[in-house]
Amino acid sequence: MNGKPRQHMEALSHRLGLAPDAMRSGLSAAAAFPFLAPPSWYRKISASDDPEGLIRQVLPLGEELADVPGFGADPLAEEPAARYGLVEKYHGRLLLMVTRRCAGHCRFCFRRHVLDTPVDQDELQDAFRVRMAADSDITEVILSGGDPLVLSDRVLSSWLELFSAYRRLRRVRIHTRGPVFTPARITPKFTAVVAASRHPVVIVLHVNHPDELDAETAAALARLRSACVLLLSQTVLLAGINDSADTLAVLFERAVECGLAPYYLHQLDRVAGAAHFEVAKSRGLEIMRELHRRLPGYMVPRYVEEVPGDTSKRPIVPGGTPCP
Ligand SMILES: *Cc1c(COP(=O)(O)O)cnc(C)c1O
Ligand code: SF4
Repeated sequence: MNGKPRQHMEALSHRLGLAPDAMRSGLSAAAAFPFLAPPSWYRKISASDDPEGLIRQVLPLGEELADVPGFGADPLAEEPAARYGLVEKYHGRLLLMVTRRCAGHCRFCFRRHVLDTPVDQDELQDAFRVRMAADSDITEVILSGGDPLVLSDRVLSSWLELFSAYRRLRRVRIHTRGPVFTPARITPKFTAVVAASRHPVVIVLHVNHPDELDAETAAALARLRSACVLLLSQTVLLAGINDSADTLAVLFERAVECGLAPYYLHQLDRVAGAAHFEVAKSRGLEIMRELHRRLPGYMVPRYVEEVPGDTSKRPIVPGGTPCP
């Protein structure tokens, strides 16, 4: 790696106080999954009292190179189904990987080994039509990726129009980090595209740290609210970033102030390269108990994990695993 990304990585490593050899192994980690952080992320870092929580989400570190048993390239066993862009694991819901690009690269991403390959929109739309032509009980489509908001308004609008042809669809969901990574992407034109959807739109924002919800992201979310979408948040529990009741309580309070209802707190998916982000479930449960003590019920998300083969996300509860 050379040029700008490398300079940015060095600057961030410096802020974390990393030694030169730690910085070098970070460069090796970036060779496997490139470093990528959008300009708004640097602004959030500059304004943050806890920049480490933001830096660690995007900065490649030598720890990623560790080969840890139990951590694999495809932890949810989605490939090869996902290779065709349609993931149908849960009753009534069809997930579409409309892109494999993102505005930033989260080091703990469970799809980190399958990002940055191209998606042919026409092919995927054809595959969608074929799937919907079969007798099915799909009532909700989920635009996922990558991050659907890296796509143009024209492409997103073509998806929403395609959905409008199906009467049995009841909802469209968009999973994104757009308002955090690229708040300026939430333009009045994009908002109009969403507002024009025939189906109600639910947007699930991936957000992990309170300082991601700064003024520009709050303003982007306010624009989205004007399109009457339901806004939810989902968070990954991450060691060294948000694994304390203090940090999460601030995050969820701030989320509600921004019009987001906290939906899921995810146990880390065990993807190779992200083992150092894992928080023990016993610790996660402790944090959940503390959050319930401190916050109104609606501010506390469900603590869940994904188990390959399950037909829904599995709640993590004290004393073990309930039936899915
Ligand atoms: C998480 C997920 C969904 C949505 O699950 P909800 O519990 O409804 O939020 C749908 N499809 C796939 C493949 C998923 O991973
Ligand atoms: S935005 Fe989502 S899909 Fe993209 S790298 Fe981050 S976690 Fe992965």
